[in-house]
Amino acid sequence: MEKFSLESFQHKVDDVLVRHSSILDILTKLQESSARINRAVAKSATFCGCIELNITKQEVPQDISYSQLKDYMSSHVTGNLCDVCREKIEQELSINFFYITALANAFNTNIEDLLNNYYENQLKTLGKYGLL
Ligand SMILES: [Zn+2]
Repeated sequence: MEKFSLESFQHKVDDVLVRHSSILDILTKLQESSARINRAVAKSATFCGCIELNITKQEVPQDISYSQLKDYMSSHVTGNLCDVCREKIEQELSINFFYITALANAFNTNIEDLLNNYYENQLKTLGKYGLL
């Protein structure tokens, strides 16, 4: 079995994307896959019940620094994904990444270079201050 790499993934996406190769198809399938991720997470809470979403205002003390903020932020999720929900969400994430890769391919963008540049220039250099 060939070792997985982003490069081989990107080439395979290019090989198998036939029906939805129009940029409009890629964009709308990407948007659809994002909605399906949201739906899968919601169904984990509302249908399965393996997780609960307890959405409340983030309670953050006024006198903390930005670097301390993470200690006070909640994901609003309690519980753990069951195997079925985890598999569904991972499937939807994979499909989303497929269409992100298809979009990169449409504009001749190398995913590994893109991620490496983001890692070097945003994550490492700016850290938590570089996120939007
Ligand atoms: Zn579940």
